[in-house]
Amino acid sequence: MPELEANDLMEKVVSLCKRRGFIYQSSEIYGGITGFWDYGPLGAELKRNVKELWWRQMVVLRDDVAGLDATIIMHPQVWKASGHVDTFNDPMVDCKVCKGRFRADQVSEIPCPRHPKMSVAQCPCEKTAPRPFNLMFKTYVGPVADEDSVAFLRPETAQAIFVQFKNVLETSRQKVPFGIAQIGKSFRNEVTPRNFTFRSREFEQMELEFFIKPDEAVEAEAGSIAEPSGSGHPGEPQRNWGWRAWLQYWVEERIRFYESIGLPRSSLVEYWQKAEELAHYARATVDILYKFPFGTQELEGIAARGDFDLSQHQQFSGKSMEVFDEETRNAFAKLDEEKRKALWQRFYENKKVDFGKRGCPEDQIEKRAREAADKLLRGTYIPHVIEPSAGVDRLVLALICNAYDEDKAPDEKGNLETRIVMRFHPRVAPIKVAVFPLLKNRPELVAKARQVRDLLRPHFAVFYDEAGAIGRRYRRQDEAGTPFGVTVDFDTLGEKGAALADTVTVRDRDTMRQERVKIGELVEWLRERLR
Ligand code: ATP
Repeated sequence: MPELEANDLMEKVVSLCKRRGFIYQSSEIYGGITGFWDYGPLGAELKRNVKELWWRQMVVLRDDVAGLDATIIMHPQVWKASGHVDTFNDPMVDCKVCKGRFRADQVSEIPCPRHPKMSVAQCPCEKTAPRPFNLMFKTYVGPVADEDSVAFLRPETAQAIFVQFKNVLETSRQKVPFGIAQIGKSFRNEVTPRNFTFRSREFEQMELEFFIKPDEAVEAEAGSIAEPSGSGHPGEPQRNWGWRAWLQYWVEERIRFYESIGLPRSSLVEYWQKAEELAHYARATVDILYKFPFGTQELEGIAARGDFDLSQHQQFSGKSMEVFDEETRNAFAKLDEEKRKALWQRFYENKKVDFGKRGCPEDQIEKRAREAADKLLRGTYIPHVIEPSAGVDRLVLALICNAYDEDKAPDEKGNLETRIVMRFHPRVAPIKVAVFPLLKNRPELVAKARQVRDLLRPHFAVFYDEAGAIGRRYRRQDEAGTPFGVTVDFDTLGEKGAALADTVTVRDRDTMRQERVKIGELVEWLRERLR
């Protein structure tokens, strides 16, 4: 749809979302509340489909991932250990004239409320120096609102996975390498929510923590570490994979997922963060970006985080986050002395760096690194992790932007008119099939159409509509992105002979072509095309 300007497209998307019940402003009747959005009937279905497909791909279809559903409010120490209390800050500037509040790193992109032709950075208003602003929402647990009862709404779902790591390991019969997946709400008091739902203050995340052995354990067991090619899917997991191969694997798995639900690879960008952009604990981070109408922006981040998170929780809780790995112990026991020493040394050097970054007192770094390296040789280590972390709302927005299209279709009189059509992949489409009687005032048609609806309903999300001209009913479903429309007409009732009796017209949303299908074969016919 190249003729549509980016701004135009975004405006059309926002308006369609409201008009058709995908997304509404939260608390709209009170004037809305910035950064909060509600999903209407179609949006709620779309979002459920996205989450179910993610869960299916990441948990149900795999042996090596287990699920978790943890609370939004956790012990406040969790956020001390994770670093969020001290470092989850955005630099913020205030404008003394318009009283606006902006993220310091975005002032060159955001228009000034007083001088809309200029960005905040360019405008002459008087601004404060940037100061840090913690993004976590605070609340109080229990009847007394004092410092001891302060708790936070989680700013990410990931930490619950680390905190419950040992419980899941013990109850799921998993062994490293394995993952824990979770979908749930997260909250960030974003300084400048914008671009529709892209940056919200309440949103949902789909996160996987995939725990792997440290590279030195892999090398002891497999002899050497696989060198990933740097691009393309590396295939089925292998025992000689170190963190680099696992990272590449998850990047490719995630891109395949996006393709499988209708985002073409050409709409995605794989961005490998540069060394200076990386968080201090990250060994590498790959962002998967989508080409939104307002810019190419992050859908998902996939980070190799070493053993930072589990180590932090071990330190803050005093509870061991180590695993005992018999394969690692046996492998080290069989190694020749030289190789064992070399791996010990490498692990020790890496650990020293990690302890340093985690603020370990200078005089204890060597001692702790030595202890950890000695333990590794006995098969005990803190697992490392690869974290694919995706936002549900950003993905829903990407799917909506990607699906939006306009073409020409004949109206009731045969004149061509502009048609808005949401070309959702059938897997994510909120409604899979619409069922219509040709006319509302013919009881035989209505009765038969209701029978067809009841036949399909156990298998697919069905929408039944009998009001208005058939052409207009088709258009409404085109805007909802419904892949197929089934019409019951006089032929279905056998009025034009036995050959067409008990057949219906199935209209394809994209091609607008119609086909006669026997009612008895309809479920299978649709199932094949909705996969
Ligand atoms: P950004 O740089 O855009 O603020 P981030 O790098 O802080 O994002 P992460 O902490 O890596 O984001 O969160 C993982 C995912 O959660 C993001 O890729 C995104 O899809 C989603 N996400 C994060 N913040 C928001 C938000 N404010 N609104 C909607 N989704 C979000």
